[in-house]
Amino acid sequence: MRIDKLLANMGYGSRKEVKKLLKDQGILVNGITITDAKTHINPESDKIVIHGEEIHYREFIYIMMNKPAGVISATEDLREKTVLDLLYIEDSQFEPFPVGRLDKDTVGLLLLTNDGQLAHQLLSPKKHVPKTYYAMIDGYVTVEDQQKFHEGVELDDGYVTKPAELVILKSGEIRSEVELTITEGKFHQVKRMFEAVGKKVVYLKRLSMGPLALDEDLEEGEYRELTAEELQALK
Ligand code: URA
Repeated sequence: MRIDKLLANMGYGSRKEVKKLLKDQGILVNGITITDAKTHINPESDKIVIHGEEIHYREFIYIMMNKPAGVISATEDLREKTVLDLLYIEDSQFEPFPVGRLDKDTVGLLLLTNDGQLAHQLLSPKKHVPKTYYAMIDGYVTVEDQQKFHEGVELDDGYVTKPAELVILKSGEIRSEVELTITEGKFHQVKRMFEAVGKKVVYLKRLSMGPLALDEDLEEGEYRELTAEELQALK
């Protein structure tokens, strides 16, 4: 890997800033001062020292975000603010992307990573990774709805959903509160499932994805890296 790319990935600045750092100060690789940005090094085996400190390269980043409403789960968009716009520059250097999508108005757990293999595992329809949502619904949610969700409901495009578990937390004439666990990820799936039983989702928050649960200490718009335990549980 080129040394300027490695340093930029690790948050030492943009490619341009890193080139300047190399030119002005150089960095030590296996005891030799390197100033040429084009130098290739092996991040696994070479000893890299910057400002007197040895640095340890890592390839991947894993971020848990409490996605706020009003931003889209895309890497870039000409008009809309994206979840990547919420990251600090050092974290965005890793070029993470959101694992799956949440609607613009949906809040809650969003995993961002640059580990394509893990993302694939979590998103693969064959893996049936469960995702749990908290939702507020206009009107009464009934035991019949629970049963229908368990059996599968027909969405507007004719697709019949896989069994989903609906827990009714509160049921009222004006508003109900539920938790719904689904094992697939069709477009607008939760909203369309409620539409299929004649109801409207007015608030949606993702609580978990597989073994990963939203850290409730994260305010909307905040994020943190996964702990070693969380990452191990996901892999
Ligand atoms: N289902 C939806 O309808 N919207 C989301 O954002 C996620 C699941």
